[in-house]
Amino acid sequence: MTRWVLAVHGGAGDRAATLARERLEAARRGVVAALRTGAEVLAERGSAVEAVVAAVKVLEDDPEFNAGRGSALTVDRTVETDAAVADGRLRRAGAVAACRGVRNPVEAARAVMERTEHVLMAGDAVAQLAESWGLELEPNDWFVTPHALEQLRRSGQGPGPSSGETVGAVARDLDGHLAAATSTGGRVGQLRGRVGDSPLIGAGTWADDGTCAVSATGGGEALILAAFAHEVDALLRLTGAGIAAACNRALESVAVHGGRGGCIAVDVAGNLAMPFTTEAMYRGWADMSGEIATSVLHERDLLTRRRG
Ligand code: ASP
Repeated sequence: MTRWVLAVHGGAGDRAATLARERLEAARRGVVAALRTGAEVLAERGSAVEAVVAAVKVLEDDPEFNAGRGSALTVDRTVETDAAVADGRLRRAGAVAACRGVRNPVEAARAVMERTEHVLMAGDAVAQLAESWGLELEPNDWFVTPHALEQLRRSGQGPGPSSGETVGAVARDLDGHLAAATSTGGRVGQLRGRVGDSPLIGAGTWADDGTCAVSATGGGEALILAAFAHEVDALLRLTGAGIAAACNRALESVAVHGGRGGCIAVDVAGNLAMPFTTEAMYRGWADMSGEIATSVLHERDLLTRRRG
């Protein structure tokens, strides 16, 4: 079967449920822009990896989201980002954690996958490597938005359960290959050096052409303890569950660890699932029908539009 499909998320959380209309619309526009960019790649026979990286890059550059510019701030007002890319075709992945100064962490994650022998690089070395790979760097202040400062101020002492607005993408390309990418600034007010689920392969990000591609969002500590994305894979592989049932059951394991969240996932056949246990999750999808759909809440708030 030759059909491509792409989904993106802009984070699971509770805040979107109470956001002013303009902010919601701005986030929706960001999701649509990311889908358009990724869909163009897939429509022109680009790979699933290229599509998810292109889509996530758009969301990292959009200050509405907790990734790249606009990231959640640590307790010391610094930005430390996590990102990962997983390639289901070759079952390989690359990731960066607690990364400072790299404009597009998802590109650094891809470079780790394609240019090094390693899977996960962390800390200051990432910016040095990124520079040597020709990736753009920015000073800390460039990443800090008034919105992120306000969120930190409101958080008082200690991190909240989940900051929301983390971003991710999953895709199946025309050759049937799967890929996932996730990028985040983590939790508002987190300690410096804290690493969430997003860059941990099998927790926040996963892709295997034989099963599924998954990008998660939500309480990172619980997602890690549940080995969330790999749990979705295992349920598909070992129990014969469908993609939606597998995601829902894996979210139950997250709840056991006291966390809430959501994910976007695509299976081998191109079926999508986008469940979440928070109040809202920015999400959208595109396929060969030429339509783009976006949704935020649980109830029907689906908006569709033509891609072109
Ligand atoms: N999962 C992310 C983290 O814990 C945050 C989020 O998705 O809201 O770093």
